[in-house]
Amino acid sequence: MPETTKVAWDLSDLFASINDPGIDRTLDDCLDRARQFADRYRGKIDDTGLTAETLLSAVADYEALAQELAKPMTYASLIFCADTSKPEHGALMQHVQERQTEIALQLLFFELELMAAEPEVIDAILEDERLERYRHFVRASRLFREHRLSEPEEKILEEKANTGGRAFQRLFEESVSGIEFKLTIDGEEQSLTEPEVIALLRDPRRETRKAAAAALSRGLSENGRLLTFIFNTLIYDKSIDDRLRRYSHPEQARNTANELDAETVETLIAACVASYPLTARYYRLKREVLGYDVLMHYDRYAPIFESKKRHPFEEGRQMVLDSFERFSPVMSRVAAEFFDKQWIDAAPRPGKRGGAFCSYVTTDLHPYVFLTYLDRSDDVMTLAHELGHGLHGYLARERGYLSFSSALPVAELASTFGQMLVFESLASQADLEEKLALYAEKIEEVFATVHRQAAMYRFEQGLHRARRERGELTADEISQMWQSGIQAMFGDSLELGDEHSCWWMYIEHFVSTPFYVYAYSFGELLVMALYSMYRREGEGFVPRYIELLTTGGSCSPQELLARVGIDIKDPEFWRGGMRVIEEMVDQFERLYREYKA
Ligand SMILES: [Zn+2]
Repeated sequence: MPETTKVAWDLSDLFASINDPGIDRTLDDCLDRARQFADRYRGKIDDTGLTAETLLSAVADYEALAQELAKPMTYASLIFCADTSKPEHGALMQHVQERQTEIALQLLFFELELMAAEPEVIDAILEDERLERYRHFVRASRLFREHRLSEPEEKILEEKANTGGRAFQRLFEESVSGIEFKLTIDGEEQSLTEPEVIALLRDPRRETRKAAAAALSRGLSENGRLLTFIFNTLIYDKSIDDRLRRYSHPEQARNTANELDAETVETLIAACVASYPLTARYYRLKREVLGYDVLMHYDRYAPIFESKKRHPFEEGRQMVLDSFERFSPVMSRVAAEFFDKQWIDAAPRPGKRGGAFCSYVTTDLHPYVFLTYLDRSDDVMTLAHELGHGLHGYLARERGYLSFSSALPVAELASTFGQMLVFESLASQADLEEKLALYAEKIEEVFATVHRQAAMYRFEQGLHRARRERGELTADEISQMWQSGIQAMFGDSLELGDEHSCWWMYIEHFVSTPFYVYAYSFGELLVMALYSMYRREGEGFVPRYIELLTTGGSCSPQELLARVGIDIKDPEFWRGGMRVIEEMVDQFERLYREYKA
């Protein structure tokens, strides 16, 4: 039995057990406090007589309450993820959810009034130094001010969404997860779910990948009429929403939520598109390594070198701590605390949910990290990734509960950076074949995050504009846009066969969170660019980086990065990130020549 089996988290900083009476006591107390809060502040926040004292005490009360309220739900969801098989874990989540909604309804007025308050009043009050801590929270809450409707209108939209947009999203999820993808592997007929069939696209055997790709296309096409209808409906629904809320273009609502302007996003995407030839260069080499005449869509994720090395948990832990230590003792000290104080759940166990995450929890406690560690190089990287998040949450605690988590585009900053540090040290210790495997995996992951998401963003832009200009779209029209949009990133290095043309149909982000995808390109490329600064500047970069993490979500991405001298509107900054990726491809090419010789 691997020693990892013992690495379980200790959640007693939150509650002692699922039967802890403290859970309901906390909720009772929060309900009382929420009622008092409403009695005290309702009608005062959007009043022209609002003073700095009132706003300060209201936000501070609100923050303290929100923080307490987060604890029961955080505990319930952590314990549920660690073992989903126990019905009492699911029941606790449901119970807490219902009680939490009751409390949240009492508090709803606060953010609405904050939005409604007159700019002259709020702006003058925010000048007050005592409000410095809450300035960004207040400003960010007010970003949607110009796009909100009257209260009765908002209520109608909210209620009707359950039978409108949200219902179509649920229909999408249930339809896609209900599809049985049928294929034959090794003479055996199988019926797979969507994640299972997609996992097979990484199978080392070409026949299996080919069969999986065909099964995916078959399953989707058979449901093509339904899925196309859902897409058309939701895209139309969004255009109605955007018109009512006075958004001038389809991307605007997302950009507002991300606190980015259209120009910055366009600069980023243009840098990704300009770098498509790099993707093509890598895939031409991959074609050579695999020895195929033509690289097809089902070969995109084919493993080319297998990473065989095993890293038991203790070794993984040491590797992460050492690479963090080389960067900064602050990083290794904080990360060590996660191991020593049992803030990590790494043990494989029946009923444990898949995937990995870091929960920031609250600022008076500390983050928890969740993963299933199976001794692979990949798991060492995941550990570094989640500890990167953990570090970010830990260091940003001093900003307070309302300002410690980052906006989406910078949320993956510390995780991807931590992962890069560990990647470099893993690669430096590996033998040639292991190195090739590590580089191939890393490069493909970067392309999938930077270039592919940019291509998907361009597709989505085209999709929303076409629907607005031409009305309902056919599956064929959408497929053509998808096919040419994604093919562009590969050039002639890889051929997306006809089968690939309907693969837009299962992408959940298009349906649930329009234009979400560019945040992935932003986050990853940002880290590459920061990494190149680190290489150039060495030691001098370290305190600025730690400062970035400590700032948390207390300002917009643009302000945050300006503090370390980065102008995210400058194309040269993004090209710096691309150069790091290019160097990885150069390195892979060199290693492969060496391997072949
Ligand atoms: Zn992450």
